[in-house]
Amino acid sequence: IKKPKIVILGAGYGGMMTASRLLKANVHQDAEITLVNKHNYHYQTTWLHEPAAGTLHHDRTRMRIDSVIDTKKIHFIKDIVAEIKTEEKKVILEGGELDYDYLVIGLGSVPETFGIPGVEEHAFSIRSVNSVRLIREHVEYKFASYNNEEEKHDEYLNIVVAGAGFTGIEFVGELSERIPELCEEYDIPREKVNIYSIEAAPTALPGFDEDLVTYAMNVLESRGVEFLINTPIKEVKEDGVTLADGTEIKASTIVWTTGVRGNSLIEKAGFEAMRGRVKVESNLRAPGHDNIFIIGDCALIINEEVNRPYPPTAQIAIQQAYTCADNLRALLAGKDELKAFKPDIKGTVASLGGKEAIGLVGSKKLYGVSASAMKKVIDNRYLYLLGGVPLVMKKGKLNFF
Ligand code: FAD
Repeated sequence: IKKPKIVILGAGYGGMMTASRLLKANVHQDAEITLVNKHNYHYQTTWLHEPAAGTLHHDRTRMRIDSVIDTKKIHFIKDIVAEIKTEEKKVILEGGELDYDYLVIGLGSVPETFGIPGVEEHAFSIRSVNSVRLIREHVEYKFASYNNEEEKHDEYLNIVVAGAGFTGIEFVGELSERIPELCEEYDIPREKVNIYSIEAAPTALPGFDEDLVTYAMNVLESRGVEFLINTPIKEVKEDGVTLADGTEIKASTIVWTTGVRGNSLIEKAGFEAMRGRVKVESNLRAPGHDNIFIIGDCALIINEEVNRPYPPTAQIAIQQAYTCADNLRALLAGKDELKAFKPDIKGTVASLGGKEAIGLVGSKKLYGVSASAMKKVIDNRYLYLLGGVPLVMKKGKLNFF
């Protein structure tokens, strides 16, 4: 008998964990499982602010897919998904096409530009291994070339980070640790470098506890970060940004971190979406598509308590993968009853660089070293879930204090 085909698109948190869960349950014996990803490695998006700033080598954030997933049992294809044709149950890849009986979409997100002119052309983004090493190289090049410039402009080393949400703050934290090292390395006085964290909302880290936000801003300001809060950017140019009131902030490095939208393939496939995210059914299927699960940043689920969407996080993507894998097993077994996904938000911890961090775990507020250690526990826990102790030993963050 022909085995049903399960195709998983994207080997991020959602896709990798779904594949891993299916493997652990021996589903490959009853179905032909294929995992498709742009690269032959899986990277940890939640760590990318570190290689972006140059405080961690990018290889620490990635691992070969075949080192974690048994590719004799799950077929792995390294290719770029170009289109999803739901009516024909086909996925078009740049180098071929695939049929499926069940599809799991875990293609992650892309930066939200809000249509602001110049973002695509002039700003860097923190979204993949390749995009972050470009930031690190660019910043280093600016430092390396500074003392070789004939005319030294004051703004030559200025850095603008647009967006003081989770990603922006974590990146600024790393950057504020890295800049003094770069100044030392390239003979540059620290005062020649300005780091601006610019946020349109009335607060940094919108949605975070006020005490934690104040703590984070104090730590970062003490390292020389300048906050411009309640300050929308209306345009990005090659040499800086223009604020809504017309003020220009000159900078040679602009990093855009104002949030994300679901992968553009979602809208292209014809799914009804809000900012590229599909409001999935409680069992994680796309409405009207009994054979398609959408997980991670491409999925939108509502937090009933506040009647607003949950922010897209790795925490949710990983938990959704568990439900998705269970529901695929139920469908293969011919069951109609599928599990409803219920997020179990254990907490949120944002690193601020070095040994500093802030977090809310349960109802407990964490600051400084204890928050930073908790962040490492969270990072290592994921590695443990994916590849057990060996993966933690190989890729984990073991220097807690
Ligand atoms: P991803 O993990 O992004 O994976 C998507 C995969 O799809 C990638 O491997 C990509 O290469 C692949 N792909 C994309 N397009 C294609 C294509 N066309 N063809 C083939 N493959 C493709 N969340 C938390 O819970 N806690 C945190 O502390 C946290 N910190 C963060 C810090 C930073 C700097 C950033 C940027 C994000 C952070 N997040 C955090 C959010 C979290 O990283 C995302 O919510 C999570 O990565 C979403 O998982 P995913 O599986 O949907 O997508």
